[in-house]
Amino acid sequence: MTSQKILILMSNTGGGHRASAEALQAGFARRFGDRFQVEIIDLLIDHLPWPLNQLPKSYALLANYLPWLWRLLWKTGERQIIASPLMTLAARWAAPSIRRVLRTYEPDLIISVHPLVQEMTLYALNQEGRQRPYVIVVTDLSTAHPLWFHPDARLCFVASEEARRRALRAGMRPEQLRQFGLPIRPAFAETPRAREVLRRELGMDPELPAALLLGGGEGIGPVARIARCVAEGLHGQGTPIGQLVIVCGRNRILLTRLKNRRWPVPTIVNGFVHNMSDWMAACDCVITKAGPGTIAEAMIRGLPVILSGFIPGQEEGNIPYVVDNRVGAFSTDPEEIARLVTRWFGEEREELAAMAARARELGNPRSTLQIVEEIANVLAS
Ligand code: UDP
Repeated sequence: MTSQKILILMSNTGGGHRASAEALQAGFARRFGDRFQVEIIDLLIDHLPWPLNQLPKSYALLANYLPWLWRLLWKTGERQIIASPLMTLAARWAAPSIRRVLRTYEPDLIISVHPLVQEMTLYALNQEGRQRPYVIVVTDLSTAHPLWFHPDARLCFVASEEARRRALRAGMRPEQLRQFGLPIRPAFAETPRAREVLRRELGMDPELPAALLLGGGEGIGPVARIARCVAEGLHGQGTPIGQLVIVCGRNRILLTRLKNRRWPVPTIVNGFVHNMSDWMAACDCVITKAGPGTIAEAMIRGLPVILSGFIPGQEEGNIPYVVDNRVGAFSTDPEEIARLVTRWFGEEREELAAMAARARELGNPRSTLQIVEEIANVLAS
């Protein structure tokens, strides 16, 4: 039997879209072997004409350096009266390029993991006149922007009640929606190895409770300041009451800075790690910016979360998601974060365990496999 072709459309605006696309690709391979040939492309950067191909670069600039302006754009884009004519214009501008992509890849089904490509791809598909199912996998946990949604999609996968409500408000029909969870790497679907084994292998202290600190894939935010405060807090009156694992992601400057520091408690400083599911399984809580991927992974591993910051717009809703579900807390103050961790590892140990149990209930280790199974059903029907 010849394999069917699936094309995943993503773009490198933040790490999450690529990570989700790769998780889906891995999920198809794991569940169906070579039944599907799954390719991932960066539609915006590699295939669209100027100025559309500049959008990812502008996003990185705004989200990191001018968050207030990013928030303004994000909010303005929520108003259909403004967003709709702009998207129609973009769709017309992009149509010849997208038709070329369709001719090159000849996909039997298209999956989008990016909010900006729906209108333009469905417009080009419509012009082509050939039916190819189009599926949306929303990679934001909660505050999904209306541009994610399009009534012509065959299916749309959302990860939370809030995202589902937003989809319905944006005009999706209930029968188009599926709610499993974010597409997380298949490693998280496996039962982790015993904690003692992992801690030995990872070079951690066998006994002390451990806080895992990170700033997304790029290691952004005040990771260094939080690390210093948490380490000092865990040092307490002289005897360490916890240990610290810092993941700097792709931020090499941060890595060099933290590697050269002396720490008052057992501390491991890593660059980008490829075994996050092991590190999470070996730790007791996570301190992170409000990235959807890290939060969903922490839930699966049953780790309470302290959110230390957020990107305005798409990550804002992740704060009530964590706080209202009582699986963690939000604070941007490094000293307050340190006090929280110290309490969690000390007099509030029972509360930490209760939060961990609630987190495990909220996480869905099988979400990626459930998503790929549903998509395979579309192709089988
Ligand atoms: N991550 C990783 N190794 C690292 C740092 C981060 O695998 O060294 C992964 C992390 O597990 C998560 C993703 O990168 O899956 C970060 O996604 P998130 O949505 O939290 O933040 P983003 O970086 O996309 O803003």
